[in-house]
Amino acid sequence: MDSIKYTLSENQMPRFWYNIQADLPEPVPSVLHPGTLEPITVADLEPLFPTQLISQEVSQERWIEIPDEVQSIYRQWRPTPLYRARRLEKALDTPAKIYYKYEGVSPAGSHKPNTAIPQAYYNKLAGVKRLTTETGAGQWGSSLSLAGAFFGLEIVVFMVKVSYHQKPYRRAFMEAYGARVVASPSNETEAGRSILKKYPDSTGSLGIAIGEAVEVAIADDQTKYALGSVLNHVLLHQTVIGQETLAQLELTGDYPDIIIGCTGGGSNFAGIAFPFLGAKLRGEQNNVKFVAVEPAACPTLTKGKYAYDFGDTAHLTPLVKMHTLGSSFVPQGFHAGGLRYHGMAPLLSHIVELGMIECRAETQLGCFAAGLTFARAEGILPAPEANHAVKAAIDEALRCKEEGVSQTILFNLCGHGHFDMQAYMDYQAGLLRDTEYSAEELEMALSGLPVSR
Ligand SMILES: *Cc1c(COP(=O)(O)O)cnc(C)c1O
Repeated sequence: MDSIKYTLSENQMPRFWYNIQADLPEPVPSVLHPGTLEPITVADLEPLFPTQLISQEVSQERWIEIPDEVQSIYRQWRPTPLYRARRLEKALDTPAKIYYKYEGVSPAGSHKPNTAIPQAYYNKLAGVKRLTTETGAGQWGSSLSLAGAFFGLEIVVFMVKVSYHQKPYRRAFMEAYGARVVASPSNETEAGRSILKKYPDSTGSLGIAIGEAVEVAIADDQTKYALGSVLNHVLLHQTVIGQETLAQLELTGDYPDIIIGCTGGGSNFAGIAFPFLGAKLRGEQNNVKFVAVEPAACPTLTKGKYAYDFGDTAHLTPLVKMHTLGSSFVPQGFHAGGLRYHGMAPLLSHIVELGMIECRAETQLGCFAAGLTFARAEGILPAPEANHAVKAAIDEALRCKEEGVSQTILFNLCGHGHFDMQAYMDYQAGLLRDTEYSAEELEMALSGLPVSR
């Protein structure tokens, strides 16, 4: 029988997160205090995060136990299915085998609850009452709002203004879970007010929204801050994806030649790739090619600079070494809101610098076309962000056809696109254009980098 779906039982779900820091040949560069330029201390981070998350951030332990309470919530949708895309293979007439891990089965519709749940759990344990955060497309805001509802935490979401207006259903979804959603830049913070003074019509950015959320968290000791990507502990939590995939692939008898993920801040890519990369780093497996795909309109990995930079526009966060377009870079509007961040996870940036990952940038029209090809063959309509991974998977499958080789391709289908129908309507109506980043703007944003080393 030609299987389509590879499922694990609940008791085969991973009990530990995998920490790639234990296997790196060189440690990831320290995070610096913006005032002293010295490595930050636990005390510097305590106003923002509970101690358990701070210790995960710097841990060198290879395996970190997933608390029982988190496991029992994960079990509502995990283990998620691994699919063999047989109808897509047929449609492309390719000798390649295509597998995809589907994270859209979570209640919020993406991989983000994998970290929202443990983040809310550790905050609740530390006696925190309220969490602030930012959201672009609304995926992270929805996931943290879901986690807030499960753990009885108040959630305040600063939502990038352009998305707040473009995506009323995402906002309503967060409010249904009980969250308060504020359009950013807002008048509620100094960070928001100072932007509005300079640019009254600002449509916002993730960098600005992060500044607002951090400011509110610092000002109140019952309130902490949660970030949905970029940080080491977020990437750590996402490794349940790749660990499950390893176990599921054992059922198929195949091992991937190519592993693909889209990258906004780097978390879903890390989630699927790091467990495989760990095997490679430990010398257990050698031949996998890893491909990170980002939008050409926000080309952090392919056009950014590897340098210390702030995570936010207001410059309240510590300095992290990452590929960056500059913290003042506001990408042009395009329809993959979750990929519009100026920076990249320091862990992923470090691994890219070590030469272990291939990076590509794709424009949106090609990604939407790939998304529709996928939807018509497989039935699942991907999130616009996930279309970047779909595009690369289809390209690799077509290359296999040209070369007459049967390779195994694995990609992470990190979310469904049911809240993104406006984007699909615009695409089908021919209203979308391919925007590239502006070289002048990029140069300006990069000239403002805080320190060079
Ligand atoms: C948030 C999001 C992304 C981008 O974030 P990563 O940390 O790079 O994963 C990509 N896809 C979806 C569906 C998202 O919700």
